[in-house]
Amino acid sequence: MTELELLKFRKQIEEGIEEILRRMPFLKEEARGNPYSCSIGKVSWMDSQNDKGISEQLLRESKLRLEKLRNAMMRIENGTYGICIRCGNAIPPGRLEIIPEVLLCLSCAEKKK
Ligand SMILES: [Zn+2]
Repeated sequence: MTELELLKFRKQIEEGIEEILRRMPFLKEEARGNPYSCSIGKVSWMDSQNDKGISEQLLRESKLRLEKLRNAMMRIENGTYGICIRCGNAIPPGRLEIIPEVLLCLSCAEKKK
């Protein structure tokens, strides 16, 4: 991987981290299920419980992605970014563009399934 590519992915990862950190307070608020945030009458109790479940799931997923992105950042710092953690081969840049925090090359990811 070239320096330029690495810089590009680094920026992508940084932006991903920033976006999650920006959204986190709202997700936390919603996952807590603020009873005053839903308009009474319109939203039934079931609906608000469902929304709460979705928010909690979103929050969990965001935290997980944040961890992966931070991990990818560390891998950039120590020079192991873009290398499959299972087989040690380089992960194609096209794959990294779609999922910058990816840890496995395509064939290893498929084997995992
Ligand atoms: Zn691999």
